Amino acid sequence: MTDCIFCKIASGAIPSKKIYEDDEVIAFHDIHPIAPVHFLIVPKLHVAGLSDCAPEHGQLLGKLLLLAPRLAAEQGLDGFRTMINTGRSGGQEVFHLHIHVFGGGVSLPKV
Ligand code: AMP
Ligand code: ZN
Repeated sequence: MTDCIFCKIASGAIPSKKIYEDDEVIAFHDIHPIAPVHFLIVPKLHVAGLSDCAPEHGQLLGKLLLLAPRLAAEQGLDGFRTMINTGRSGGQEVFHLHIHVFGGGVSLPKV
């Protein structure tokens, strides 16, 4: 997807504050953090969002989720919140699947 910002970040065409990368996944700090630590875990494969995932994406989704505690610990978090906004009415603005991970400093409001 040539006009997708996260595809461009995944390919290195746009710089990011990268904290992790392998052949399938990239993770980088959110450009507008809403917590002291706020990063995104993003598959390199372009999938618009969680509603566009199929059973064939199960392994990749598992990998993304399993990276959350590992990367959170590397960022110094002893607890964290994950969030996947899905669809415009779900607050999604970038239509390339991503998991928000945030925490640090303050205790998050209960939801
Ligand atoms: P969402 O509302 O779940 O689609 O979240 C998209 C997130 O991507 C927002 O928190 C943005 O701040 C973040 N974002 C957008 N562009 C960039 C970028 N170039 N680098 C890092 N984060 C970005
Ligand atoms: Zn994309």
